Amino acid sequence: MRRAYNSVMHLPKLNSCPQCAAPYISHRVCPACGFYKERQIVSVKAQA
Ligand SMILES: [Zn+2]
Repeated sequence: MRRAYNSVMHLPKLNSCPQCAAPYISHRVCPACGFYKERQIVSVKAQA
């Protein structure tokens, strides 16, 4: 019983990315497009 409840509590809060609509963890950069706080933080398609 208690174990199942803990697993639920442990899940991070998900938001929908305003840029690509993919689910991303709150206060984290979107893993799909690198978008965070209305800014492009990570260059996903960056190639040196
Ligand atoms: Zn995104």
